Amino acid sequence: MTSLLAVLALIGSATAQPSATFSFITPASDAASAPLQAEADISRRAIEKFFGKPFVNSVAVTIVGSRKEFDAAIPAAWGVTPSQCWMVGAGVYDRLIMLSPTAWAKDACDHKPGDVDEAKQIMRHELTHVIHGQYNPTHDFTGLDDAAWFIEGLATYVSGQLDDKRLARAQAALGSGKGPTGLADAWSGSEKYGFSGSMVAYLDKKYGRAKLISLLDKTTNAAIMQELGTTQQAFIAGWSEWLKSRKLAPHA
Ligand SMILES: [Zn+2]
Repeated sequence: MTSLLAVLALIGSATAQPSATFSFITPASDAASAPLQAEADISRRAIEKFFGKPFVNSVAVTIVGSRKEFDAAIPAAWGVTPSQCWMVGAGVYDRLIMLSPTAWAKDACDHKPGDVDEAKQIMRHELTHVIHGQYNPTHDFTGLDDAAWFIEGLATYVSGQLDDKRLARAQAALGSGKGPTGLADAWSGSEKYGFSGSMVAYLDKKYGRAKLISLLDKTTNAAIMQELGTTQQAFIAGWSEWLKSRKLAPHA
């Protein structure tokens, strides 16, 4: 059994664009459904504030209670099913699919079973992909594999997943010569969240929020670098220096 509830969130800004509708399909008796549904609204406001832009397309949020239902909810055309055990969320311009944290013990790996706070961060990460997809001409990032550092780094940065622990691990890896050699390989390996997330954090600090927002519709690394007026090598060198010089609290 599922319950369907449509929520229209009003945006208190002076934008002329209409506010998009978020609809929800959630498992009927799942303790995580209500907090995640509430988080979708909180995240939406935070994300719209970050970008200074509204969600312009309606979004269908589906929370499921098993890996089987998760795979059934993901369009086959995305080519990610059967999904791997670490994957508990997915988002493109018009939809967001999440595996409820109450199912993580049985149907997921690398996530603390039942951790609603982590699930909320994942919700915000996926909603960042959703708004990015709404302003990107591909809508679902097809063919943007080389720019995964920007897509995933942006979602990692906006969602708050780029904590000091991740930054410190990325800093240490960079210091021991294990950093990415190009943008296309930044979203790979064990420190991909730290590398890609900090690249977008660096971009936001050095080039400014308006510049970051102007990258939402770009579909290649070349176009992104052109907009920033730099080259891949210079960007990576600048980021590398910035990350290495960050003072971070020590972590085990
Ligand atoms: Zn992601």
